[in-house]
Amino acid sequence: MKTWLSKINPNFLARHWHNESLFLSLSMAMLQQILFFITLGVAGYLIRKRVLRILDNIRLGKKQEISDRKNERLNNVLMIAFGQKKMFKRFIPAILHFFIYVGFLVINLEVLEFMIDGLSGTHRIFAPYLGGLYNILMNVFEFLALAVLLACVVFLIRRNVIKIPRFQSAEMTKWPTLDGNLILTIEIVLMLAIFTMNASDQILQTRDDHYTPTGVLFLSTFLTSGLQQYSTSTLINIERFAWWFHIIGILGFTLYITYSKHLHIFMAFPNTYYSNLEPKGHINNMPVVTREVKSMLGLATTDANLPAEPGKFGAKDINDLSWNNLMAAYSCTECGRCTSECPANLTGKKLSPRKIMMDTRDRMEHVGKSLGTGGAGLNDGKFLLGDYITKEEINACTSCNACVEACPILINPLEIILELRRYVAMEESGSPAQWNAMFQNIETSFAPWKFSAADRFNWSKEEK
Ligand code: SF4
Ligand code: SF4
Repeated sequence: MKTWLSKINPNFLARHWHNESLFLSLSMAMLQQILFFITLGVAGYLIRKRVLRILDNIRLGKKQEISDRKNERLNNVLMIAFGQKKMFKRFIPAILHFFIYVGFLVINLEVLEFMIDGLSGTHRIFAPYLGGLYNILMNVFEFLALAVLLACVVFLIRRNVIKIPRFQSAEMTKWPTLDGNLILTIEIVLMLAIFTMNASDQILQTRDDHYTPTGVLFLSTFLTSGLQQYSTSTLINIERFAWWFHIIGILGFTLYITYSKHLHIFMAFPNTYYSNLEPKGHINNMPVVTREVKSMLGLATTDANLPAEPGKFGAKDINDLSWNNLMAAYSCTECGRCTSECPANLTGKKLSPRKIMMDTRDRMEHVGKSLGTGGAGLNDGKFLLGDYITKEEINACTSCNACVEACPILINPLEIILELRRYVAMEESGSPAQWNAMFQNIETSFAPWKFSAADRFNWSKEEK
């Protein structure tokens, strides 16, 4: 592998070997290499720590075995997470999001070169090996960078100027709003850094023969006329600043998204894989309760693996939900498509399925932080139900599945709502009085209305 020293043209070295500034440059190059090692090490440590915290938080959930229908699950990952299929129900945001997504995937290939250059002290290490292909790739990266930049600007306008209603609802408080704006702004600045770096690099290629030729980079040449006025040493500083800004930005961005809704960039993939494949409307019965009912009706009950006692009904806190529900909360993009389709929300009820997912994540984060600092964790006297999500919210749900259908990454807020409601109904007997009357009717008359079971099929009799 070529190092920063071997990359320098030998004639150039021969001419300037006694030149003090050359030694200064070489020392600077070495210093940069050392700084890069330190930066990468610190970033790697912080990112790893945070990822482990998130995994531990997800493990707070109940066990759930999901190992069936592997092909269907892989298909979901390919079509929904990778192919963005559900996004295209709303074309304009979908196409803008697609640019950012493809830009993120493809431009990150360039980050690989950044990493190798940073670690080995080289500059544009792939350029000599790829020749003309390098020029094509760099131009593709630049066009994608422009597409990302424009898409981010449009998204910022949609959020802050047009004020799209789904970004203005009650749960979009200061932090979620700031988070959305911050990430878009960071992406714009990172893309500008790429253009600045490429533009100054192209000028340096014409002034100093130890800069590897890249061929013309079409978009960044538009910036070169503005930079030509600067001296070579200033341009070197600009190029280096843009390079460092971009790489520190990428590492900082990676750490930041672990605290942000942008974690969906990674979490959408496992989330779609482990999503609920049952038909919408299927409600998970509790097998233990089914056994009890069957036994009351005198039907055979065969499953010997079931525990003798039913345990807790439903969920009061995050540890009563499954790990899959908790992972879904980390996957939520806060796009609000679920809330914008929710009939309860649209008719002015307090319920917002997006808030259900945000609250679940907030509770996990709170408990995780407390556990990480030796605090009380789950025993802090707070619960997901009551302290984060109120009964009024969960009681407003019609179980219509519109939110599930709307979610672009197959999140199911209804599962969490039903578990919380099951707890209220079965552990607290805390459902509204009208509901309790209905439950009783179902128990005694097998119908929500109060009439005798014997009269149930009267409607089918011929009138005399
Ligand atoms: S299932 Fe409940 S939360 Fe989801 S859209 Fe329907 S009413 Fe809203
Ligand atoms: S649950 Fe799905 S639709 Fe709702 S905000 Fe999260 S990602 Fe968007």
